[in-house]
Amino acid sequence: MTKDRDDRKPLTRLAQAGRKPEWTGMPGQPGGIVNPPVWRASTILYDDVAHLRRAASSSTHERLFYGRKGTPTAWSLADALTEMEPGAEGTMLFPSGVAAIACALLSVLKPGDHLLMVDSAYDPTRNFCQQMLKSYGIETTYYDPLAEIASIRGLIHENTRAIFLESPGSLTFEVQDIPTITALAKEQGIATLLDNTWATPYFFPAMVHGIDISILACTKYIVGHSDVMLGSVTATPDLFPKIRQTAYLLGQMVSPDDAWLASRGLRTLGVRLNHHQESALQIAHWLAAQPDVARVLHPALPSCPGHEHWQRDFSGSSGLFSFVLKGGDEKSRAALIDGLAHFGIGYSWGGFESLALPVDPARYRTATSWQAEGPVVRLQIGLEDPADLIADLDAGLLRFRKMRG
Ligand SMILES: *Cc1c(COP(=O)(O)O)cnc(C)c1O
Repeated sequence: MTKDRDDRKPLTRLAQAGRKPEWTGMPGQPGGIVNPPVWRASTILYDDVAHLRRAASSSTHERLFYGRKGTPTAWSLADALTEMEPGAEGTMLFPSGVAAIACALLSVLKPGDHLLMVDSAYDPTRNFCQQMLKSYGIETTYYDPLAEIASIRGLIHENTRAIFLESPGSLTFEVQDIPTITALAKEQGIATLLDNTWATPYFFPAMVHGIDISILACTKYIVGHSDVMLGSVTATPDLFPKIRQTAYLLGQMVSPDDAWLASRGLRTLGVRLNHHQESALQIAHWLAAQPDVARVLHPALPSCPGHEHWQRDFSGSSGLFSFVLKGGDEKSRAALIDGLAHFGIGYSWGGFESLALPVDPARYRTATSWQAEGPVVRLQIGLEDPADLIADLDAGLLRFRKMRG
């Protein structure tokens, strides 16, 4: 299984990653089980005092020490996520995506530092900057996701230590020019962090494109079944020790049951994403042809800002995108969403089930403005038959049209 590890294609990696023989077998016995089991632990028992002393003075990386440092169940998931990111040194796990983002930012910033944050970032990421980082004397400047590199360069101060990217952006799906931004950051000695939740390393291996720290809300596609909260931070050899230290100091860890469910989800990430991709594209193209739809914000469609970056850098597209209605208001948008038979109304996404959400991007922007022909709906396209979803949306657009007048 260790032969030609770096040549393996992503689907092969997903099937094999993180399944070390020492986590699936019994010492001294041949053979083993397929999946590392759930190891539940707080106390670890030592053979004698010398053993306890030795354990305390050596690295706890993938070694039983105390429950907070994890057990093989979590290490296996972390290793698997690292294997999905060529160029990465290691991965730390967190109880949510937001906890992962917070730890990653705290690992590279200290009081007096300056952060560049993309204006289309996930709203709780902005809140962390405004409420937590600010109180620690760390200043944040928001930048346009589609800014020319010269204008990003102009925002860099002497104390700028990190550039945070999210591509495509939450709600509005602008695709950033990641290789150009990471090249500038490297030249200036600035760390780059990417919220890679939408594409996952399956469609966008971040470190290959120059990113130092890749963050996933595993809650979404990695888990894939809408039943576990989990986050991860994967980093380069330069920055991983810092991430691990900060995570330990903050006491971050995940439950072995949650890690096990996420590992189970990871095995089917590729087939699920391929299917999400196909259905979402079919529905996005159908929506683009509807007279009541002004624009479809899907990275794989030319109507999406930054589409050319997606085409150049990503190997696929997932199941989440938005569309802008032609005219209408809160009430007519609600008429569309409320009557949908096959779409749940709820936050989060990345599960097997479809979701529809009213979104209002203007509320979450400061460096750019949001102008649109009408209200926006975000869709998560699940694994249902796309023909059913299209018929459902078709009826929804009829309700919208009637209410809008
Ligand atoms: C959901 C989400 C998060 C946060 O993940 P949680 O596990 O819900 O905390 C972060 N970034 C993006 C882009 C998300 O969609």
